[in-house]
Amino acid sequence: MKHPYLTDDHEIFRRSLRKFLEKEAYPFYDQWEEERMIPRSFWEKMGEQGYLCPDIDEEYGGSEVDWGFAVVINEELERVGSGLVGVGLHNDIVVPYITAYGTDEQKQKWLQKCTTGEIITAIAMTEPGTGSDLANIQTTAILDGDHYILNGQKTFITNGIQSDLIVVACKTDPKANPKHKGVSLLVVERDTPGFSRGRKLNKVGLHCQDTAELIFEDCRVPKENLLGEEGKGFLYLMEKLQQERLLVAIAAQTASEVMLKQTIEYVKSREAFGKPVSKFQNTQFKIVEMATEIEMSRAFLDQLIAEHIEGKDVVTKVSMAKWKLTDSAKKIAAECMQLHGGYGYMEEYEIARRFRDIPVASIYAGTNEIMKTIIAKNLGL
Ligand SMILES: Cc1cc2nc3c(=O)[nH]c(=O)nc-3n(C[C@H](O)[C@H](O)[C@H](O)COP(=O)(O)OP(=O)(O)OC[C@H]3O[C@@H](n4cnc5c(N)ncnc54)[C@H](O)[C@@H]3O)c2cc1C
Repeated sequence: MKHPYLTDDHEIFRRSLRKFLEKEAYPFYDQWEEERMIPRSFWEKMGEQGYLCPDIDEEYGGSEVDWGFAVVINEELERVGSGLVGVGLHNDIVVPYITAYGTDEQKQKWLQKCTTGEIITAIAMTEPGTGSDLANIQTTAILDGDHYILNGQKTFITNGIQSDLIVVACKTDPKANPKHKGVSLLVVERDTPGFSRGRKLNKVGLHCQDTAELIFEDCRVPKENLLGEEGKGFLYLMEKLQQERLLVAIAAQTASEVMLKQTIEYVKSREAFGKPVSKFQNTQFKIVEMATEIEMSRAFLDQLIAEHIEGKDVVTKVSMAKWKLTDSAKKIAAECMQLHGGYGYMEEYEIARRFRDIPVASIYAGTNEIMKTIIAKNLGL
């Protein structure tokens, strides 16, 4: 399907990326799922081909392309499997904090390596005791001479084990009132003294995605690793979370489109009572309902992406897309599995993996309940 904000250049790019993924990702995906990790070599190959952070400035190794290319990359990665979400997080969630709020020195030091795959990034907001209530984080960073002394624990961190550079949300002013004014963003590098990794977490799905705990014990972070200004971290997070939520909506939409396509193929090939399962009215109605929902969501999403690319304020609509599209992807996964019968519950059919992977989309990047609180507030309720 050709999206209105994409040109022929984007489609040519999509074809070469898909070809690349058919060679470098699809054949290995099951193995990565079993190994619970994507090898670094895949990141490096992505970097060699220009698929990591292509939007950043040429002087830092990027190609200065528009965000339509990010949409293509995230759609194609999702087509392979939701477990590749860590790449999108690096490209379009973490690195943008450095490009938007970093100093020239920080950009010179880190960005080039982010485009080659030498540096894998992560963002650490969530803690064992708090996720949705971000202003209530307990991790502290207290200035001591030329260093911040960082103490605290983070959990559920995507790219947690492999990351070389982590943007950590912390309190530089733990007594600030209101609390969110004490939040700052610090960049922690791989070998910083006092930084260690905790458990690599076992998840229901997204098996090849690396999710981990991070621990900071009197971790000495050079004060020049502060991103932007002290006390503005919460504001930066609120600004950048829009793009993160949009990416989750794009992935959910893509997953729904993939699941529907696979299910249509399956019900046409499977026979029961002497005819293809696709000939039962129930099957047709279910497929029609899903196809209608997906088509309408696509129209809303495309419009929203176009508005985001134009730089419009999309907070309410992004929150709507995030909850609605992830919610409907969960329902579509369940319907598609049902239409596969017993085979849908077997690992050799992709729908089984999709069914496991999709529920997290309504939890991360701000839960769907939090999305509804944002929409309610913006509706003046
Ligand atoms: C696979 C995975 C990857 C992740 N990756 C990252 C990452 O890279 N970096 C990172 O920082 N975090 C990451 N997270 C964490 C994720 O963003 C949080 O899990 C999420 O924000 C919810 O926080 P919580 O788990 O603490 O749930 P809680 O905040 O404890 O919420 C529990 C329940 O209460 C509901 N609730 C909470 N507040 C309200 C309210 N005001 N109104 C109504 N209901 C409410 C929630 O919606 C939820 O249903 C990841 C999580 C997962 C599972």
